[in-house]
Amino acid sequence: MSKSADVRILGSGIVSRSLALCLAHQGLQVALQARPAASPRTDDVRAYALNPSSVALLQRLRAWDALPAEARTAVLDMKVAGDAPGAGIEFSAWQQAVDALAWIVDAAELENSLETAVRYNPRIDLQPQPGPAALTVVAEGKASAERERLGVAFERHGYGHSALATRLVAEGPHQGTAWQWFRAPEVLALLPLDRPECGHGYALVWSQPAEQAEHWRQAAPEALEEVLLQLTGGVVGRLRVAGDRATWPLALGRAQAVSGPGWALVGDAAHVVHPLAGQGLNLGLADVQALDEVLAARESWRDLGDAALLRRYARKRAWGTWAMAQGTDGLWQLFAQDAPGLRELRNHGMTLVNRIAPLKRWLVRQALDV
Ligand SMILES: Cc1cc2nc3c(=O)[nH]c(=O)nc-3n(C[C@H](O)[C@H](O)[C@H](O)COP(=O)(O)OP(=O)(O)OC[C@H]3O[C@@H](n4cnc5c(N)ncnc54)[C@H](O)[C@@H]3O)c2cc1C
Repeated sequence: MSKSADVRILGSGIVSRSLALCLAHQGLQVALQARPAASPRTDDVRAYALNPSSVALLQRLRAWDALPAEARTAVLDMKVAGDAPGAGIEFSAWQQAVDALAWIVDAAELENSLETAVRYNPRIDLQPQPGPAALTVVAEGKASAERERLGVAFERHGYGHSALATRLVAEGPHQGTAWQWFRAPEVLALLPLDRPECGHGYALVWSQPAEQAEHWRQAAPEALEEVLLQLTGGVVGRLRVAGDRATWPLALGRAQAVSGPGWALVGDAAHVVHPLAGQGLNLGLADVQALDEVLAARESWRDLGDAALLRRYARKRAWGTWAMAQGTDGLWQLFAQDAPGLRELRNHGMTLVNRIAPLKRWLVRQALDV
């Protein structure tokens, strides 16, 4: 028989499961409404760039070490190129005195690892229709129905672009280098990944106008390989398509409020950003850490759904999510325009930033901890 829950969490993603584990670790009884996934999941061809804070959280939840070794790869160098010869910025873990700039993790494997951890946690009850609880946390993703039911407006701006993702086999080993090309209006990223299907190859994330993304999703593999060779200038040699292809429509989105009496929003249900900086899930996991801390530090007389308590969570997250939304949107706006003056300005700016070591260090610190 299911026990009565302290907290009800709605959602079947990485954010909902991470939060369920956090709250269970602090001794709360959790009812999790998560749709059972095909197990084990293999249908998500994305790979996520995770920052050290997210990795530390997943380690604490024992979901990181449970990942197969080939599901996570450290990024030691990052090379970002503009759309003029020689324009770009390079970051290295060695220069920043960190073990890794980020880790690339296979999306489906991370979901599997968290699902297993949740399934065996005695404080988490998986329920198709959980009953009421003092606190309901909505982690239903960008199209959240519960958010709508609560009457919380979600401001959404579609970019008219989609991201195409797949896996690529490279001619040589990736050596822990992540690549990104800003080519107005497109952003192409190669994330190093060690997986059986792509060897020491790459996960591709290529943001581009939606119709073009659809074209390349369906194109013959040889045609896609040819265009990738042109766009990357052959810096990693010829790339071979080695997996399914999928596209995601891209948008900027923000909920008008992220908490109220008895409820809180986390993850994409609260905010959606362009994936050009690889930060959406990092933001969601930072929400998880903030809510976990606020609930753990509550006064003994406060109810878990206390509106003033949940406002502390909203305040904790306000600046970080706002800054990331502005930053990713600003970058996108800057690189989406193809006006020659602007092109020169941004390429010059990139090269300048590359030469200013303290500014570079500051940028990396921002990306390492959202
Ligand atoms: C192409 C691409 C690349 C990206 N790369 C990165 C990256 O490198 N780094 C990074 O940090 N982020 C990245 N992101 C962003 C990241 O994917 C999202 O921010 C993250 O998946 C959000 O997780 P979530 O759990 O909040 O939502 P979701 O992943 O959307 O999960 C919510 C789930 O809950 C289900 N659901 C909805 N309602 C209910 C309900 N009532 N009951 C049960 N289940 C329900 C939904 O169907 C969905 O499956 C990328 C995004 C895209 C599109």
